[in-house]
Amino acid sequence: MSISVFELFKVGVGPSSSHTMGPMTAACRFVRRVAQDGDLAAVARVEVWLYGSLALTGRGHATDTAAIIGLTGQMPADADPDACAALVARVLDSRRLPLNGGGQGYVHEIDFDAGRDIHWEGGSQLPFHPNAITFVAVDAGGVELTRGTYYSVGGGFVLDEDEARANAPANPGPPVPYDFANADQLLAMAGQAGLTIAELMRENERAARGDADIDQGLDRILATMDACIDRGMRETGILPGGLDVPRRAAKIHAQLMQRQERMLRDPLSVMDWVNLWALAVNEENAAGGKVVTSPTNGAAGIIPAVLRYYERFHDPDRRRLHIFLLTAAAIGGLYKRNASISAAEVGCQGEVGVACSMAAAGLTAAMGGTNAQIENAAEIGMEHNLGLTCDPIKGLVQIPCIERNAMGAIKAIDAARLALMGDGTHKVSLDRVIETMRRTGADMKDLYKETSLGGLAVNLPEC
Ligand code: SF4
Repeated sequence: MSISVFELFKVGVGPSSSHTMGPMTAACRFVRRVAQDGDLAAVARVEVWLYGSLALTGRGHATDTAAIIGLTGQMPADADPDACAALVARVLDSRRLPLNGGGQGYVHEIDFDAGRDIHWEGGSQLPFHPNAITFVAVDAGGVELTRGTYYSVGGGFVLDEDEARANAPANPGPPVPYDFANADQLLAMAGQAGLTIAELMRENERAARGDADIDQGLDRILATMDACIDRGMRETGILPGGLDVPRRAAKIHAQLMQRQERMLRDPLSVMDWVNLWALAVNEENAAGGKVVTSPTNGAAGIIPAVLRYYERFHDPDRRRLHIFLLTAAAIGGLYKRNASISAAEVGCQGEVGVACSMAAAGLTAAMGGTNAQIENAAEIGMEHNLGLTCDPIKGLVQIPCIERNAMGAIKAIDAARLALMGDGTHKVSLDRVIETMRRTGADMKDLYKETSLGGLAVNLPEC
């Protein structure tokens, strides 16, 4: 089952794809199901049960507020961050929650007390995935009407129990001409058809939509990434969550603008810009702003920063930016299919590591690299992120996450440059490194998989 570029790159809100966007989507799906069953008007209460990593880091990742927003019928792509903040404040203050099952006449208001109705079950895990959320709707007599469990499996992807059992969404989309299962198949199919990886991905996208729609969708992704960088470079102040992390991007931007002439003496000043763009996105993400999941929110700064590096320092041609995105998505799909893009499953190698690999591949393609060089770049991008743990302080997507995106972006550029200096021949294949990442994640202690129970999260008591 090939994964679309529009599934890998989703417009949504921060701070987390698995812990914010996923639960919001799950809540929205649940309330629509209740409405479809005809039970919405009979609902008196909805209880939310958060399990595993969703409970352990859910407060820092805004999982509870995401569930509330989802129950009001909003999906992440449509959510306006400012309006959502006001809505959540209203719900918490009034203890009244407008359930919205979709469509006219489907709004039904219930009592909702977050302290009573949201249950944090960090010590329990459900089968299938560490990020599980259960919703239970009951009537005025306390009789259960509907129950639904969902798994947020990384990158904003959500599966219900049936889908999780089958390990696939119920509606996978139309069949595609090149249904590659791994990188070897991708290279073989592209080679036989005489296509670049980006061209092959476009052929697959054409199974669901025309070229005009594909280009419009890609432009929307680019525009959202650009807007996120630009907003991140303007905003100042302290990031929310209680860790008192100051936003740095605006200050760094001002510094860079002030010393433009002096920077011409220093060829490495390019790195300052790449660092800035990555920080800007991840500060926006940490503040709950609008971002593109790429392929997750915690790692959302890497691909926009490398894309802007390409656009500003190489070539602004939109077609080449589309090649970047399509190629990066082909690589991201391999990780999603054969390993994981969920830090709760495999640690940060599945977020920052995957984003680095995707960005390296996209940049190599945009710069005219061969399919073999692209595969090599993707492999390098992951090889040097293997074992990267997830240990966010206070469960917030701030430390180490924000700076880690800057490091990931620089590493991706280096991986592309290394690959472009060779002919694509190399020892460790991309498939091998993806499998190594999966096994390393399976061997990793839970302490380092988005639980905030180990690493930096417990070794900086002064924070
Ligand atoms: S450490 Fe990495 S995986 Fe964990 S929350 Fe931060 S960016 Fe995401």
